[in-house]
Amino acid sequence: MSEGTVMAQSLYFTFVLSCLICGSYGLVSSGNGTTTVRSVDYNAATAVTPTERRDSTTKPSTTQSSKSINAPAVRLTSTTTSKVLTTTTRPPKTTTTANYSFNTEDLNEGIDKKVEKRVWNKEPEDEPLEFECPPLGLESLRVKDPQLRASSYKRRGLGPHRGRLNIQSGIEDGDIYDGAWCAQYEDKKQWLEVDARRPTRFTGVILQGRSSIWSWDFILTYKVQFSNDTLVWQPAMNGTKEAVFEGNQDTETPVLALFNESATVARYIRINPQSWYENGTICLRAEVLGCTLPDPNNIYAWQQTEQGTKDKLDFRHHNYKEMRKLMKSVTEACPDITHIYSIGKSHMGLKMYVMEISDHPGKHELGEPEFRYVAGMHGNEALGRELLLNLMQYICQEYKLGNQRIVRLVKETRIHLLPSMNPDGYEMAFKKGSELAGWALGRYSYQGIDMNHNFADLNKVMWDAIEFDFQNNDKSKLINHYIPIPEYYTAEDAFVALETRAVINWMQNIPFVLSANLHGGELVVTYPFDRTEDWAPHDDTPTPDNSFFRWLATVYASTNQVMSNPDRRPCHNENFQRYNNIINGANWHTVQGSMNDFSYLHTNCFDVTVELSCDKFPHASELPIEWENNKESLLIYMEQVHRGLKGVIRDKDTEAGIADAIIKVDDIDHHIRSVADGDYWRLLNPGEYEVTVSAEGYNPSTRMCRVMYEHYPTICDFRLTKTPKQRLKEILAKGGKLPKDLQLRLRQLRLRKLRASTKAINSRRAAASRKARGS
Ligand SMILES: [Zn+2]
Repeated sequence: MSEGTVMAQSLYFTFVLSCLICGSYGLVSSGNGTTTVRSVDYNAATAVTPTERRDSTTKPSTTQSSKSINAPAVRLTSTTTSKVLTTTTRPPKTTTTANYSFNTEDLNEGIDKKVEKRVWNKEPEDEPLEFECPPLGLESLRVKDPQLRASSYKRRGLGPHRGRLNIQSGIEDGDIYDGAWCAQYEDKKQWLEVDARRPTRFTGVILQGRSSIWSWDFILTYKVQFSNDTLVWQPAMNGTKEAVFEGNQDTETPVLALFNESATVARYIRINPQSWYENGTICLRAEVLGCTLPDPNNIYAWQQTEQGTKDKLDFRHHNYKEMRKLMKSVTEACPDITHIYSIGKSHMGLKMYVMEISDHPGKHELGEPEFRYVAGMHGNEALGRELLLNLMQYICQEYKLGNQRIVRLVKETRIHLLPSMNPDGYEMAFKKGSELAGWALGRYSYQGIDMNHNFADLNKVMWDAIEFDFQNNDKSKLINHYIPIPEYYTAEDAFVALETRAVINWMQNIPFVLSANLHGGELVVTYPFDRTEDWAPHDDTPTPDNSFFRWLATVYASTNQVMSNPDRRPCHNENFQRYNNIINGANWHTVQGSMNDFSYLHTNCFDVTVELSCDKFPHASELPIEWENNKESLLIYMEQVHRGLKGVIRDKDTEAGIADAIIKVDDIDHHIRSVADGDYWRLLNPGEYEVTVSAEGYNPSTRMCRVMYEHYPTICDFRLTKTPKQRLKEILAKGGKLPKDLQLRLRQLRLRKLRASTKAINSRRAAASRKARGS
């Protein structure tokens, strides 16, 4: 989720910001060595030379992204078409010669003392406040709109239902989705009322000012009253006097007030402002802390029953140390299917741990697709992190119990879970706690980088090439996949976070097929492109694979229990239900350098963004429900990696796999490539497709392949024959003699060439003599 105000401003001032962004790479120095953990082995034992990109992974280098392949334009000459292929039988599994792996991390080793001191021993208040009672759920929307009332309100968009902690305003003044409750009158009689719907021991209030790019409104002091019937009200006391609580000093920082221990048990609570910022008016966003008591007579009791989960998972927030413990416990419980590795370190030195789950952990198996979930790119969007920790525990438990769905998933997929892409940001937000971190604290890297704007902007490279072609009618520069990283981005002083570099290195070294990037603060699934072509603040910008991306987004959104609920209210200022909870990223708001666009344009991997919940950092008590809301979605989304086509591309004579073969499907202007042993995956919706495979030194081959509706990919293998030129090259390289058929074929080719050039010379001569005669 984009940070509310910042997002609104960036939308409004897109032109200004865009220029700041595009200039920033060269201007700002990271001031920082670019070291990476390098533990990749690539033993390509295939007939084809590894590409430059892969080759670079064997050498220790300072910047992992400094080399990228220069994919040539795809030119197809003669092709042959064979019969429609509908088989869905799977080939026997083999572990491949390519390693595609990172070294195992030993979590028995302690955390580096220097890092520990840097991250945890800086301030005295390094532990988050533990509340005696949880939030009622104004922020999480567990408290419904009708439970909120007010003495008066300015207009509908500033009604009591908007008085929720961290709610974000729309960008237009007077928007129906505005960023607070605001009273119509300016006096001390105004109140916001919350109906807890059952007897509640209220313990505190968290107050925040108004979210707005137009106004600056917040409450300085306030009183609190309680009631059981809304007729008789009791004030919160401070000894013998009516208590007056300190409110806010700005519009964004949440401020906590705790009541005395003798706090009243009541059903209703009112927040009653006494003074406010002098140039503003009475506006606030709030959360209420309270423990609800059981009340058999309450007619609403049935609504309040806990929607828990029967899964026995560790439902709490895990900071870095706790996360390590949990991941370690999972590998101890399921050593046969798990493997922990690190893809690099954060600015502060925290490792970016990945839990790999597969029946052969640590290895790529021929034909087995690689899947990844990434969470916590924005450190304060903490739900995704917990869901991935839940997911690894769940898979381990269910695998051991023999749950057929999970067993199949583990056997047929290599799953990689990165719960924390921005560990530094997370620790910042974690120390404040789920309710007091506000909307933006911990979003950025330690250096202040928003990682979702920090990937190389390959959209520009691609669109520039298309523009160039249009002007010069030169298609040689056109590429539609594996777009190389521009040089400015790989410079030592490029403003690229270590964390971003680590993820790029990871993407380049594991042949991922499908991914999702877990965020929070909204309820919607977005699919690429994330960037508009002409700098518009938002505009539908589909990829050539739009229909499959829409399918992917729909799979998640339609199975998420909150998104799919037709009665839910919008989180903040956009109503995504109108679009069935999916949207093209650029159509929401343009983002330059997003991870999804990069993934699609630089690698074979399709990536979408999931905005998991309205509340970025839900209280721990919400985690079991959030798991239940997302469990099916997380599983079914992973299963989509088995859609479409897959197969192995081999040399017809030697049966060796061909790496880097280009797979072109119908008219979809986005190709993918085979990996080290010739295996490939092409995500596609059901249908019949003409697939053409080409590889350097081979004759291209075309065949029809039909994708079925089942959760099985269609196997579509190819056997390519070497071109005569390639065969000649190889024979000569070995110092061998040419076989008869090849000699003959080469002679024919030479003759044809000779005839063609003779013809050209003759016609040129004829033209010249015509010209001479004419003058
Ligand atoms: Zn986000």
